[in-house]
Amino acid sequence: MTPETQKQLGIRPATADKLAKLHIKSLWDLALHLPLRYEDETRLTPLADVQAGQAAQVEVVVEHAEVQYRPRRQLVVKTTDAADARRVLFLRFLHFYPNQLQQMAEGQTLRVLGEVKHGFYGLEMIHPKVRSAEGAMAESLTPVYPTVNGLSQPTLRRLIRTALALLPPEDSLPPAVLAPLQLPPLAECLQLLHAPPPSLRLSEVHSGALPAWQRLKFDELLAQQLSMRLARAQRHSGRAPRLQGNGSLSSRLCAQLPFALTAAQERVLAEIRHDLAQVHPMHRLLQGDVGSGKTIVAALAAIVALEAGFQVAVMAPTEILAEQHYLKFTQWLTPLGIAPVWLSGSLRKKAKDSAKAALAEGLTPLAVGTHALFQDDVVFHNLGLVIVDEQHRFGVAQRLALKNKGAEVHQLMMSATPIPRTLAMSFFADLDVSVIDTLPPGRTPIKTKLVNQARRQEVEGFVRHTVAQGRQVYWVCPLIEESEALQLQTAVDTHAHLQSVFPDLRVGLVHGRMKAAEKAQVMQEFVSGSLHILVATTVIEVGVDVPNASLMVIEHAERMGLSQLHQLRGRVGRGAAASTCVLLFEEPLSELAKTRLKVIYEHSDGFEIARQDLNIRGPGEFLGARQSGAPMLRFAHLEEDLYLLEAARQLAPQLIEQQPQVVEQHLQRWLSGREGYLGV
Ligand code: ADP
Ligand code: MG
Repeated sequence: MTPETQKQLGIRPATADKLAKLHIKSLWDLALHLPLRYEDETRLTPLADVQAGQAAQVEVVVEHAEVQYRPRRQLVVKTTDAADARRVLFLRFLHFYPNQLQQMAEGQTLRVLGEVKHGFYGLEMIHPKVRSAEGAMAESLTPVYPTVNGLSQPTLRRLIRTALALLPPEDSLPPAVLAPLQLPPLAECLQLLHAPPPSLRLSEVHSGALPAWQRLKFDELLAQQLSMRLARAQRHSGRAPRLQGNGSLSSRLCAQLPFALTAAQERVLAEIRHDLAQVHPMHRLLQGDVGSGKTIVAALAAIVALEAGFQVAVMAPTEILAEQHYLKFTQWLTPLGIAPVWLSGSLRKKAKDSAKAALAEGLTPLAVGTHALFQDDVVFHNLGLVIVDEQHRFGVAQRLALKNKGAEVHQLMMSATPIPRTLAMSFFADLDVSVIDTLPPGRTPIKTKLVNQARRQEVEGFVRHTVAQGRQVYWVCPLIEESEALQLQTAVDTHAHLQSVFPDLRVGLVHGRMKAAEKAQVMQEFVSGSLHILVATTVIEVGVDVPNASLMVIEHAERMGLSQLHQLRGRVGRGAAASTCVLLFEEPLSELAKTRLKVIYEHSDGFEIARQDLNIRGPGEFLGARQSGAPMLRFAHLEEDLYLLEAARQLAPQLIEQQPQVVEQHLQRWLSGREGYLGV
């Protein structure tokens, strides 16, 4: 907050610091700091009319106050309605000061406000707001604001009143814009929301349908649309190298693949190639279900850059994911004379230094790794394309680092999680999206079975049967998030157990702690068919491809997330044989686990599963970093306010084109100080 604003508000730097924690830096930020809820101190309610569960202000006379010690120290005050001594209300305080005892001396008349509940002795209020009955009644409903420690409601209220009085009264949006939407003027709305007249009921002012709230929601959605569009326009105005391949490498890669690209893959690849050939940076999201074949598309996109003589960086949010990509890219590109370099946080310093040197000098055209790729000290010789897998799993800081490093380069992001329509329209409005909507041919439907842990032996019988038919089996051990060591132990134990149950079969073990070479060795044995059963931790979640494996057993499936189960299950059903996925679970099941198992049992389409997952978990997880970086939607609700969202979407491009000064003012008000995060 500028010293000038502090002076206008009459506050000290300490208060300004507290306001800053609430993202309040300007008068407009204060004006737009709207209440979470309201209290009604404009009227008194007779106790006889108060219903349990409702908040009310009641005038009472203290009959008796005492500190009790059981079950814990507390102040209990017996009062009666000031107008009706037969009606009793107890007040209870678990935290209190000595002077509160004085305030509640026998015979005092008080106004108490709080939620009334059925207590042990009768009606009671816990920690009510207490004031003397002498003061005047409030003239408007009392707003309750989001706040931080040390910043009281009265202080906030006073500052907001001051800000409202100081702000220029004119609207940021012209009447012609507001009229068709029938939205009231902003000044009027702010006045009303910060100090609602007593004629409004609490339920009315709490309702999002109130025209004043509608106006605020609309303005907020409009600010989001404007900033998204501007961010996109800004990106499009940037320069990036025009990447056009000559086809020399890509034709060799395609010739070497054991399959032909699907029509969907060809289509998205054409979209990507088109973008890469522009002088403006690409910013494209590639969506496709697990197993839809995004990796080869990414590799062919990388090859365009390589053919054009530019470097490529491929980044994934976890080491395991990144390593899978590294193995794939190495397998595909080494025959073409290109050796990818690996860079991750866990790499030894010496190896890291040599990888960095190779990138800086341009000796290596392609790097695969984690976000270690975008540390400050990693310098590229001529980076042309960045490919980011599961981009939404990266944090804001990492994305900013990427953005800074990649301002002048093309970006391809990949995700297996579909964006619901409302999110696509709002938070992701700045992205171009390509979708791989069909799976490669030759997949067989997978039968999913839910089996209680108690029936494990039957499952072992099924394993025997599957192997007897010449097929192979994955046996996946649970993800134990708290402890990698524990997960490792479970995998080791399971491996020993299965080996003793099937002494005549070859049982392999692969886990995240093994060296890449050892892991590759075991995987190779499984791929070649010399191992019958592969016990694995969730490292095989991604990227493993063994068509002869037709059975997957997942232990403790109840502990796993939906997308993980879906990813795992996608490892079978890749050959001609009918495949089965057995989900072992242990009772008792939580409601959440039950719901998840039901969803995975009933659905095989990843987009549908992701949609259900979003329903279960809400969009927070999905938005993750994107939202926390741009906390723009405080008031609007995407589903409920779809109509306003659509209106804002229509209006934004018109305003940008015709009334840039309106756009600037509107964004100034809504986004002061947050521009840095836009478009991340
Ligand atoms: P995801 O989209 O989940 O990243 P992958 O890229 O790992 O999927 O591909 C899954 C499997 O499908 C891989 O083994 C890959 O080699 C194979 N694949 C990809 N494209 C095709 C295709 N057109 N025909 C057959 N198999 C394919
Ligand atoms: Mg993938």
